[in-house]
Amino acid sequence: MVTTTRKGLPIIADASKCTGCLVCELRCSLRFEKAFNPAKAAIVVRRRVEAANEYEISFTDTCDNCGICVRYCSYGALTQVKKGKEALR
Ligand code: SF4
Ligand code: SF4
Repeated sequence: MVTTTRKGLPIIADASKCTGCLVCELRCSLRFEKAFNPAKAAIVVRRRVEAANEYEISFTDTCDNCGICVRYCSYGALTQVKKGKEALR
């Protein structure tokens, strides 16, 4: 599990729930590039071979925990934590 700790509230990525749909990458790149370009996204989803989880989720240094990718993940693979509270969805 990956947890980001930048400006916004931390984001927890649970790769075991990820389907590899890449909506998070598309939506993040739209924010930064005003275009759908996964290569420019601050979230990176990669398929793994012979691993426990089929996909691996990581974040680049550009990510500021804006939370957009969390809102657009339909599979519960991304959550954003509120201080002292349960994860937001
Ligand atoms: S984290 Fe969510 S939105 Fe991103 S690829 Fe995985 S399932 Fe899709
Ligand atoms: S939190 Fe915002 S900047 Fe970070 S990966 Fe998600 S959409 Fe991109």
